[in-house]
Amino acid sequence: MPRSVYRELVVGVNIKVPLLNGSWITSINLDNAATTPPFVCALQEIIQFAPMYSSVHRGAGYKSRLSTELYENSRLTIANFVKADLNYDTVIFLKNTTEAINKLSHRLYCDNEKSVVLSTEMEHHSNDLPWRNKHHVDYIEIDDDGRLCLDDLVCKLNKYKNAVKLVAVTGASNVTGYVNPIYEIAEITHKYNAKILVDGAQLVPHAQIDMQPVNSPGHIDYLAFSGHKMYAPFGTGVLIGPKETFMNGAPEYAGGGTVRTVTHTDVLWDDPPHKEEAGTPNMMGALSLQAAVKTLSMIGMQNISNYELDLWNYTISNLKKIPGLQLYCDTNPDKPRIGIVSFNLDGIHHALLADILAGETGISVRSGCFCAQPYVRKLLKIQEEKESCIRGHRSLSRPGMVRISFGLYNDFDEIDILIQKLHHIVDYKEFYIQKYMAV
Ligand code: PMP
Repeated sequence: MPRSVYRELVVGVNIKVPLLNGSWITSINLDNAATTPPFVCALQEIIQFAPMYSSVHRGAGYKSRLSTELYENSRLTIANFVKADLNYDTVIFLKNTTEAINKLSHRLYCDNEKSVVLSTEMEHHSNDLPWRNKHHVDYIEIDDDGRLCLDDLVCKLNKYKNAVKLVAVTGASNVTGYVNPIYEIAEITHKYNAKILVDGAQLVPHAQIDMQPVNSPGHIDYLAFSGHKMYAPFGTGVLIGPKETFMNGAPEYAGGGTVRTVTHTDVLWDDPPHKEEAGTPNMMGALSLQAAVKTLSMIGMQNISNYELDLWNYTISNLKKIPGLQLYCDTNPDKPRIGIVSFNLDGIHHALLADILAGETGISVRSGCFCAQPYVRKLLKIQEEKESCIRGHRSLSRPGMVRISFGLYNDFDEIDILIQKLHHIVDYKEFYIQKYMAV
């Protein structure tokens, strides 16, 4: 099988890790939905700029001016990557998607009215919990396969009669890999005078996103994503949305960098994005993210998507041959998705299986509910009443799944090693269970 041509772009792909028996083996990372390793270019960008690094927006020195210029230019690169219109939108740098969505939930909050926000049953906790308390939240339903029901979106928009302020939906699920029809959802949402937020944490690194012109019905109003899931794990995430949203009122974090004038009795806030980025900005994070984005663009998001879906198809066809393996997504290759597969093996707890894969073959996968407990519970067909048994950390009574998620540098060879090991685990199940329960 050919190796991924993108491997050399990524740091640490050939690093060896220890196995349970003390020997060392080349690691296989199949947990890219959690976070990706850095691109070489993203790391180099930081190292090369380090001698010139200085304070952003705060100094008159040459280094400071240069740092400010590069930081501000990073916004442009990132806006272009997702086709945001900077005449209308602002690009705010934050820590990650979670912080971005929390910021938006704060900004859309009104003291005197609890507006309705429609989240969905397939969301990561980061696009669910921030909406609670401050807003009235309802959840768009999923069907038996776990895909979003657009009929229910329409039904709920009608039910709340123009009171819905926002539809907050993931671009792609971090559990099933399903890609939602975000432009269609935007069109429907706009008909009801509501806006759409796309949680792009999983979609932006793996497919082309186009926020579309402001006056087009499919326009994406708000987009959030994380640098650490797109080969720039240096602490920068992004929130893009209309400047207007952030113009009035106070930011949730106040302090240096957010103001024009301060007296002991009054504050004149700066314009967005600066008023939304309290404290000294993470200039190096933004710099590395724009470098990563340039590399992704150079490769082409369609090429990345095609390659990762080839990996996914190959994996699915092989997983289907493993006795007692349960998949938790539809496997129709024609339906839109990214390269994520979640599964369980009969008779082996998901956490144990993840430990075996790491301890025997150096394969990293994620196990559990992937910060999407309501969705995983539905896919596993677990009733809410049984929730009490879910509490407790890493207990073997905890329900969940094993998740494989691809990055552009993964190989077909790596999948072969995984599949071979899964067959072996099935054949010698009791042996592995005894061995790893004792660890
Ligand atoms: N949304 C989705 C769909 C995710 O997969 C994740 C990360 N697992 C997040 C939001 C949160 O991202 P972060 O941890 O970078 O804030």
